[in-house]
Amino acid sequence: MQVYGLVGNPVGHSLSPPMHEAAYEATGIDARYVTFEPERSAIDAAITGADALGIAGLNVTIPFKQDVLELVEPDPLAARIGAVNTIDFGGGEPTGYNTDAAGVTRAFDRHGVELDGAAAVVVGAGGAGRAAAFALADAGATVHIANRTVANADELASVVPGATSGGLDTLDRVCDADVLVNATSVGMDAPDETPVPASYLHADLAVLDAVYTPIETRLLRETADAGGVTIDGAWMLLLQGVEAFELWTGVDAPVEVMNAALRDHLSIG
Ligand code: NAP
Repeated sequence: MQVYGLVGNPVGHSLSPPMHEAAYEATGIDARYVTFEPERSAIDAAITGADALGIAGLNVTIPFKQDVLELVEPDPLAARIGAVNTIDFGGGEPTGYNTDAAGVTRAFDRHGVELDGAAAVVVGAGGAGRAAAFALADAGATVHIANRTVANADELASVVPGATSGGLDTLDRVCDADVLVNATSVGMDAPDETPVPASYLHADLAVLDAVYTPIETRLLRETADAGGVTIDGAWMLLLQGVEAFELWTGVDAPVEVMNAALRDHLSIG
């Protein structure tokens, strides 16, 4: 039996175990997916120990995504993003990946949204914002990063090819954009809050909200009202997990099974 898991703190309400275990069952892979919650100071020992114990792969979440970068060999994309959310222990030195980026591009692809040549706005410049900005730029979009703390947007734009940046007062760029990603926590557990004024939303806009609690955020409701395409945060969560499953196992992920397991647990949680 192979053991996979998630390392973070806290990880109590993670949706990854049911999503991955449904995939193992559907594909006949003999594996379990468990959660680990080390103290921040113990992450080094935790990764070394996981490798020594023969754990096959780990997802990594807050607060360890940056810490782990130093503890594994990051692939080029994870190194550029500056964060690892997936470790593969299979063979040689542990390798670090960032599948949040694939979660973003796969989510747009799944909804028929063309990114090559698109004008994109990313609101937020934290972990999710970094992954989204690199993913969109690598897919051929022109990216504008708007963030509450302008210095964080400027720093990110300085490393993302072709990107521009500004404060939240530059969100009017959404009026002329094809694609918008909310990579802030605004709207999380706050159904009345939105990071982007409704007046900027329009029918030619596709919006991915990284927030998935609630699944239908105010931003997505107002995008739908404006006639735009809405992509909820569960798609990003699902498709980063799909990417990790495929990296670890080399098997095509049973995407619909994983989606059903994830959405079942979201509606329970
Ligand atoms: P993070 O690294 O802490 O970054 C948070 C971002 O939100 C920063 O850009 C921050 O701006 C901004 N922000 C926070 N409060 C704000 C406010 N009141 N007004 C405007 N901006 C605000 O967090 P993260 O890991 O990127 O996560 C961001 C969100 O994405 C969370 O809701 C998380 O659950 C979600 N997420 C979803 C997925 C998925 O698979 N669906 C994956 C990763 C993350 P400053 O720079 O000014 O602080």
